Amino acid sequence: MCLRLRGAVFAVFLVASLGASAQVIAPTAPSERIPNLDKLKDELKAYHDCTGSYGCYTRDLDLQADRAIMFLKQRAAHKRPGEKLALVLDIDETTLSNYPEMVAAGFAYDVARFEAWEKEAKAPAIGGTLRLYKAARRLGVSVFFLTGRPESDRAATVADLHAAGFDGWQELILRSASEANSTAVIYKSGERARIAGKGYRIVLNVGDQWSDLRGKPMAELSVKYPDPFYFIP
Ligand SMILES: [Mg+2]
Repeated sequence: MCLRLRGAVFAVFLVASLGASAQVIAPTAPSERIPNLDKLKDELKAYHDCTGSYGCYTRDLDLQADRAIMFLKQRAAHKRPGEKLALVLDIDETTLSNYPEMVAAGFAYDVARFEAWEKEAKAPAIGGTLRLYKAARRLGVSVFFLTGRPESDRAATVADLHAAGFDGWQELILRSASEANSTAVIYKSGERARIAGKGYRIVLNVGDQWSDLRGKPMAELSVKYPDPFYFIP
């Protein structure tokens, strides 16, 4: 319908409506279909706190962690002679939760503010991943943390992992300066190739971003955690 005709139809509608009740909402802009940012933030909080209509974040995390644990137990039971099994874990929103900082920042990402939060080393563990981690340790599966955090965050990340209950990992891999401009897929798949090149069989990879999981080599099983809070391409 052309704009002029639409306007005429609305005018007729308006006159008829005013005659009936004098309570009319004018046609809205198409952009009204874009989710409202404040309402989205409320939805995120409700999902995290398990009070909204989108389900329960912790329950969804636990479900994925349980799938990972079940697979790891079965795979370890069928380990071939000489195999060195490896679990690759992302850190942010997979192993450690930055939710307290996200809420405090109103879900905005400010690099300086986020780095200060990281340096405090008080991000809590994601419970399901701690269970998965302990299962891997019991099963003799080597754990590689693979994070997009820069190498300069190593000390704070180690301190946070220990404080959150993670000990005895095989390797903690952070972005070197030469990898700073790589996409997450290129950087992480490259590091997985390096792990495989050392003779490890990556049986399981867990991350909250698709870019944690895509690219070759892939793990035998890749597990995607929910993360409606941010997106890393
Ligand atoms: Mg992450």
